[in-house]
Amino acid sequence: MRMEGLVSPDSSRRGRSLEAVHYTQGNLWKNALFGYGEAMKYFQPDRECASYDAMRQLQSERFVKTVRHAYDAVPFYRESMAKKGLTPEDIRSLDDLSKLPFLSKDDLRESYPYGLLAVPRSRVVRIQSTSGTTGKRVVAFYTQTDIERWDECCARAIVAAGGSRDDVVHVSYGYGLFTGGPGLNGGSHKLGSMTLPMSSGNTERQIQFMCDLGSTILCCTPSYAAYLAESVMQQGVRDKIALKAGIFGAEAWSEEMRRDIEDKLGIKAYDIYGLTEISGPGVSFECSEQTGMHINEDYFAAEIIDPHTGEVLPDGSKGELVLTTIAKEAFPILRYRTRDICVLSRKPCSCGRTLLKMGRLMGRTDDMLIIRGVNVFPSQIETVLLKGGYSPNYLIIVDRVNHSDTFEVQVELTPEMFSDTVRKIAARESELLASMRSMLGISPKVTLVAPRSIARSEGKAVRVIDKRKI
Ligand SMILES: [Zn+2]
Repeated sequence: MRMEGLVSPDSSRRGRSLEAVHYTQGNLWKNALFGYGEAMKYFQPDRECASYDAMRQLQSERFVKTVRHAYDAVPFYRESMAKKGLTPEDIRSLDDLSKLPFLSKDDLRESYPYGLLAVPRSRVVRIQSTSGTTGKRVVAFYTQTDIERWDECCARAIVAAGGSRDDVVHVSYGYGLFTGGPGLNGGSHKLGSMTLPMSSGNTERQIQFMCDLGSTILCCTPSYAAYLAESVMQQGVRDKIALKAGIFGAEAWSEEMRRDIEDKLGIKAYDIYGLTEISGPGVSFECSEQTGMHINEDYFAAEIIDPHTGEVLPDGSKGELVLTTIAKEAFPILRYRTRDICVLSRKPCSCGRTLLKMGRLMGRTDDMLIIRGVNVFPSQIETVLLKGGYSPNYLIIVDRVNHSDTFEVQVELTPEMFSDTVRKIAARESELLASMRSMLGISPKVTLVAPRSIARSEGKAVRVIDKRKI
């Protein structure tokens, strides 16, 4: 089924108001409710499978409106555009995106709390916030419409993971200020699935509910999924769980970790991407092809830049992801430097979606460790470990002694490895060291530690202790 309008460039050229778009969404939602759910391939096919021209047209219209709205409502944007000699009249289509200045995390922090709010406070129905672990918090604001659009993005992700209203969606992301729980919770409601608002923690109860209520789709961080998988195996209840898929985000994770979770839980594991500054999870989501995440382009415009020069790079280049919200009311964000490194691709996808795809995150410009002058990403170490049959529990400890960097990786042995002879363990250690040296280009000190001796995380895992910064 296709909705009129977006899929046809002819009708899109006539120009459609946002209200018309809302009406279309309403119809799709009714279809989802009244009998369309079971066979759903897409939540909103008119958007997810729109032609390039139609989507570009919608993006341009929304982008131009967003710039005007931000300029009129937020002094910060007025001033930053003025510094580049820009007014909204200079922004006529999405082709003008690169004229705008970048927005950094520091700009957001300095605008705390209300500096970037673009609607009267009476129109705000929700706030979410970043964890603030690396500095002042960023507070994001949402109108009712912003929440509904965010929910749609997450509903698309659940459908792409094979979900329908017949599923039991088990949300083990944290609730509260963190966007993970509220985002997937909202998406599951929008779809009409039974939603278990578990939040993170209390692993015993998570597994109990999973067994008793027949959870079919698990949503949490990949590190918590790995921990849950380990606990399910330990309790010997794998045959009592009915999980078929997982939607795991808020952390960078590797293909090897995906396969590890999939094997242990007997599920398909899908990646999801988002950030509080932009809205939350659901900025992009993975489909059945599992080769990257489709960006919800009707709500977000994406660019890849060279993180050093700021130059926009062509599709297919590796660089820093820059995102612009094109339909947000309360908290419009123009050209936000996410610090996430990835590649964008318009290669046709076997799932039928035409939305631009971003590859798996290759690290963050601020997660990247520079050790003895070499760039090291934790995800590279994870890849080596999982390929070697180790658990994804590790800790990187970096320090500086006598003006020289020290670099240690603590790695947990599995219980089977732990019962090996001392000689065999020593052989493992040197084998692991060789694989790390070949992956990273430098040699860490590898320390093998006893099973389950590295602290587990129920939210985002702590993988790096950089004592040079303390
Ligand atoms: Zn796809």
